Amino acid sequence: MSYTQNVLDSLNARYPYQPEFLQAATEILSTLQPAIDQNPDYERYKILERLTEPERIYSFRVEWLDDKGQVQVNHGYRVQFNSAIGPYKGGLRFHPTVNEGILKFLGLEQILKNSLTGTPIGGAKGGADFDPKGKSDLEVMRFCQAFMVQLYRYIGATVDVPAGDIGVGGREIGYLYGAYKRLTTKYEGILTGKGLTWGGSLVRTEATGYGLIYFTDAMLKDRGESLKGKVCSVSGAGNVATYACEKLYQMGATPVTVSDSRGFIYDPNGIKVDVLLQVKGKERASLARYAELVPSAKFTPVSEYAPNRHPIWDVPVYAAFPCATQNEVTEEDAKALLKNGCKCVAEGANMPSTIGAINEFLKAGIAYGPAKAANAGGVATSQLEMEQNAGMTSWSFEEVDAKLLKIMTDLYNNAASTAREFKVDGNLVLGANIAGFRKVADAMLAQGVI
Ligand code: NDP
Repeated sequence: MSYTQNVLDSLNARYPYQPEFLQAATEILSTLQPAIDQNPDYERYKILERLTEPERIYSFRVEWLDDKGQVQVNHGYRVQFNSAIGPYKGGLRFHPTVNEGILKFLGLEQILKNSLTGTPIGGAKGGADFDPKGKSDLEVMRFCQAFMVQLYRYIGATVDVPAGDIGVGGREIGYLYGAYKRLTTKYEGILTGKGLTWGGSLVRTEATGYGLIYFTDAMLKDRGESLKGKVCSVSGAGNVATYACEKLYQMGATPVTVSDSRGFIYDPNGIKVDVLLQVKGKERASLARYAELVPSAKFTPVSEYAPNRHPIWDVPVYAAFPCATQNEVTEEDAKALLKNGCKCVAEGANMPSTIGAINEFLKAGIAYGPAKAANAGGVATSQLEMEQNAGMTSWSFEEVDAKLLKIMTDLYNNAASTAREFKVDGNLVLGANIAGFRKVADAMLAQGVI
């Protein structure tokens, strides 16, 4: 049996209760054998066993008072997965589904993603099973403060620098940063995604969505195609989806869908980014409200979805950009996209496609940009924020945007040339996994068994 399969089997035996982590590990390890075959030291020094086991996991109770004065208790985590190439870096997710397995899947992906950006950052992820939905600003503030009371001792500008993810945007980063400063009396870059007047970077807000479209543009150029004049679908309605839509317009394409946890919007005239920001960013309402404000938009509630299906992917498009959450594109969804002529799928969300869906895309030979490559623009710009904080300076929008564009283009070229090296031209799943893996694995070898 191959080394990769051996490691996968033991992970399956040890963590049967962490399906998302096992899915991410399977997706990654099933592509690495050709790289393992090139360097026997990877097996000799048990690099895969070490890569798939976090260096440490902090797990803690978060207790806080709601607006009625009642005690609330949540569970918080920080998974410090791998620090071979730099300080831990990765977002915090506040969502009721958060558990150790979800954060381990996200952390494992993050190791290779951060490596692919070409910048010196290790992999981590964290969060809590706290649901900001329906909470007042003061409740969110008290939760963030209680969360930081636990987290502050484990992070630091050269140790571990968290950022946002689902449920953690500018508001939450502000409260978390304020709490850290109060607890430590230090003003330092321990979080990214900060506000522009207190250490944030221009373009960080837009970076994941913009980077996704820059990556897609590079991938399509390589095939002699482009987004210009094309109809596209985008899922999600948060940070990544919003700025993916904005950049699609700038590229001359038209996004016609967005979605949230309650349903999806289809508007053949194109999604209005300002209305989206108003409904989701300011009012924090359901997308049903978007359809009230835009008469040409049709809202389909989740209650009308067939089992195992997401009808947003039935809309005929040239390119699809899943930007909501994990496993939102099933094998059946992938087949529907392909049947309707979809030529390109690039992932803004983390692990949005099931393994069955990925196999459909690879089999069809369409342009397929896997998450760890296509959505790396967010963390890459976070690293640029760290650089600016360390130098006590700030760069212009154009300067950061130009750096982001270069990072995403270089990243695409790295994944594509690695795929060619292993004679699977166009398979960016293998290309991204091996390119990200080799850098981390070689650093682990160089640093010894520690
Ligand atoms: P946000 O919290 O800003 O938005 C998330 C969006 O996804 C919301 O519209 C939310 O709907 C929707 N959503 C969440 N869960 C579900 C679900 N189970 N079913 C349907 N819709 C759902 O998060 P981000 O935009 O920051 O993150 C989106 C994805 O992108 C995640 O996978 C994240 O890990 C990934 N990502 C984010 C990066 C970043 O820089 N922010 C960087 C790289 C990846 P609702 O409003 O109803 O809750």
